[in-house]
Amino acid sequence: MKTIEPSAAPEQASSPQGAANFDLVIAGGGMAGSMLALSIAQRCPELSIAIVEQQVASAPQASFDSRSIALAAASVEQLQQLGIWADLARHSCPILQIAVSDRGHFGKTWLSAAEYRLPALGQVVEVEHLGVVLTAKLSCYPQITRYQPNQISQLQSRQAQQQLTLQDGSAIAARLLVIAEGGQSATRQLAGITQSEQPYQQTAIICNVAIAQRHQHKAYERFTEHGPLALLPLVDNRYSVVWTVSPEQAEQLMALSEPDFLAKLQQAFGYRAGQFTGCGQRACYPLVLRQSPQVVGHRLALLGNSLHSLHPIAGQGFNLALRDIASLSDLLASGTLDEVGTYPQLRRYQLARQADMAQVIQLTDALVRSFSNRSRLIALARNVGLLALLLNDQLKQPLARQTMGYGTSYAKS
Ligand SMILES: Cc1cc2nc3c(=O)[nH]c(=O)nc-3n(C[C@H](O)[C@H](O)[C@H](O)COP(=O)(O)OP(=O)(O)OC[C@H]3O[C@@H](n4cnc5c(N)ncnc54)[C@H](O)[C@@H]3O)c2cc1C
Repeated sequence: MKTIEPSAAPEQASSPQGAANFDLVIAGGGMAGSMLALSIAQRCPELSIAIVEQQVASAPQASFDSRSIALAAASVEQLQQLGIWADLARHSCPILQIAVSDRGHFGKTWLSAAEYRLPALGQVVEVEHLGVVLTAKLSCYPQITRYQPNQISQLQSRQAQQQLTLQDGSAIAARLLVIAEGGQSATRQLAGITQSEQPYQQTAIICNVAIAQRHQHKAYERFTEHGPLALLPLVDNRYSVVWTVSPEQAEQLMALSEPDFLAKLQQAFGYRAGQFTGCGQRACYPLVLRQSPQVVGHRLALLGNSLHSLHPIAGQGFNLALRDIASLSDLLASGTLDEVGTYPQLRRYQLARQADMAQVIQLTDALVRSFSNRSRLIALARNVGLLALLLNDQLKQPLARQTMGYGTSYAKS
């Protein structure tokens, strides 16, 4: 991999005629963009790839922040195939059981790996480690060029390519442009694609906590009237906390001292996971369902949060993006060079992925709305549902399969 830093003299940068041509340009080198680059570099070594990332390489990356994410069993298999799991495994913690419960109601569901004869239901990874491992791996591929720090400032659609002008004046061209710049993507706007936004009026507070007892690889998802409170087991006997509260509560909780914050967390969650003894840095994320009306366009595709940002209630966002990446890689690997980024290929990609995307978005949104609803009738209905899940293995199966990422296959071309 080579990195091209911004030119010191933009006025001398190459003209569109002298543009550097790539088969694939990925705008945004975060979690989704970097995973796509790795997957394509391995599956289609003949393709030239450019990544345009706005942040300087040495800075802590926005995408790879202090968050932890739950990877479904199927996603872990994918990372194994991509050869990065061996380096990530020592920073990841298996989930052997998940307890789903509803505060103030009688519903409680246990999902367990043993029940499904699996080594784990999923793995929890701190994303900053994912960033380190991915960056090191990508540097091994000479067909990848990084334009960093840089951004796309102009985009012109031509029949056979997207012609891009970067902020420093350099010109590059792509048979296929994949936009993976996160939720606030400037390149998506340049492409004229607007997203719909439905704010949930909820904010997720994220932090890692230490506990007095062993966590025994148990994860918890507890639903409160303000939103879910999730505890994911981490290495070194810590928990990653995702606490969803109203924006006003988030402001108050973020302002508290560490002992006061821990006391509030303990009060909200109770002692089922033991006593919380310490807390790392807190961060908060306003929660919004953002959706783009289209998955693909002329010589372009949207990926990750640039395509849709989901509520983290079911930990599906990145798992879904990984299935999109697998599907796009399959299509590019099975096609010819001339087919890269063509309408029939992108159409096949959209058709292959749209059912899974719609299902995950719908399920996640329905879950948020049902658990945020204070109506006693709805509370009763969902508690009966949770109890039914607990008592009936047949009913529990779909929930577990969706959680593990096997719910819907990523159909191939
Ligand atoms: C609290 C929380 C918990 C979550 N938990 C889970 C979980 O357990 N499991 C799960 O599967 N998912 C989870 N997710 C979702 C997951 O974090 C997202 O799916 C993932 O971060 C999307 O990555 P991305 O690369 O699309 O976007 P981002 O992570 O936002 O990365 C975008 C990248 O593009 C760069 N960029 C932005 N603009 C430009 C530009 N104009 N030019 C060049 N570069 C640009 C940025 O610097 C960044 O590097 C969670 C999300 C949240 C908020």
